[in-house]
Amino acid sequence: MAIILDGNRIAADIKAEVASQVKSMAEAGIRPGLAVILVGKSCEEVGIYGEKLTPPDTISTQELLQLVHQLNKRDEIDGILVQLPLPTQVDSKKILMAVDPAKDVDGFHPVNVGFLSTQRPGLVPCTPAGIMEILKRSNIAVARQEAVVVGRSDIVGKPVAMLLINANATVTICHSKTRDLPGVCRRADILVAAIGRAGMITGDAVKPGATVIDVGMNKVTDPAEFERLFAGNAKRLEGFRTKGSTLVGDVHPQAAEVAGAITPVPGGVGPLTIAMLMANTVKAARMRRGSRMPAMVAEHA
Ligand code: NAP
Repeated sequence: MAIILDGNRIAADIKAEVASQVKSMAEAGIRPGLAVILVGKSCEEVGIYGEKLTPPDTISTQELLQLVHQLNKRDEIDGILVQLPLPTQVDSKKILMAVDPAKDVDGFHPVNVGFLSTQRPGLVPCTPAGIMEILKRSNIAVARQEAVVVGRSDIVGKPVAMLLINANATVTICHSKTRDLPGVCRRADILVAAIGRAGMITGDAVKPGATVIDVGMNKVTDPAEFERLFAGNAKRLEGFRTKGSTLVGDVHPQAAEVAGAITPVPGGVGPLTIAMLMANTVKAARMRRGSRMPAMVAEHA
């Protein structure tokens, strides 16, 4: 049975580290600030100044651009997160392009995408950065390993593939047009599933002993689908009966019998995303305000 890679514990460790870095920055008179729509609580937990903006959903592209420009100008705001999807009347690409790349804690701005692909310091998307932290903090070797990433989204698949390449893995990226997906997956020492399809990767697509990172978050409500995924799991059934749904990843739970280590859903990759958002805010504050900090604090960067 696979080792369970406990995302909640790793995320808690990262948040504790962020909190201690924020504390030492506070001694230098700097409090990292994050402006987000809909995050709230986690900022307070680690000592970051959080600001929640909730413009009406009738907002125009021009009005939202103005809001982003104002945040770009404010020195106490180090990170700006624009929650997607935006209402249909808003030009999302224009908004994302307007965020100052130095404050782009989502790492979606083409400038940061370019920094990642050319191995320059920048802001890396939170979920992929979290995946790398899980591997690192669980002592899973990446260099020289065969990594297969299923999914090629700008948010997860492509950036995680880039991070794995930068960490010296040999990387294959798969998508909906890939021939013999199970065959390609079976080559992986590290298999990352970021597809958005409940339990699609079954145990026969996993090489025995492989590390499996399950990014998927799918809500299952159909009893037959539940049965296919969780037959015989009394605890899950109880939750499913009470709530009428359960959360499952892109990897079939039975794959845990073949894998060497696996992230559970929930409690695997999910908690890392928010922890890395906090870590990115501190990173942005360091990169932007670094020269204004005493050497001891800046050294952490
Ligand atoms: P996405 O933009 O929909 O991308 C899905 C990718 O999977 C696409 O590249 C698609 O291929 C590929 N795909 C779809 N069906 C496939 C199939 N049958 N065989 C092989 N590849 C297939 O999704 P995303 O934003 O990357 O998210 C993926 C999953 O991760 C979702 O469940 C999402 O909820 C979850 N997620 C979790 C977190 C977290 O914090 N844990 C964060 C972000 C996302 P094509 O490009 O060919 O269409």
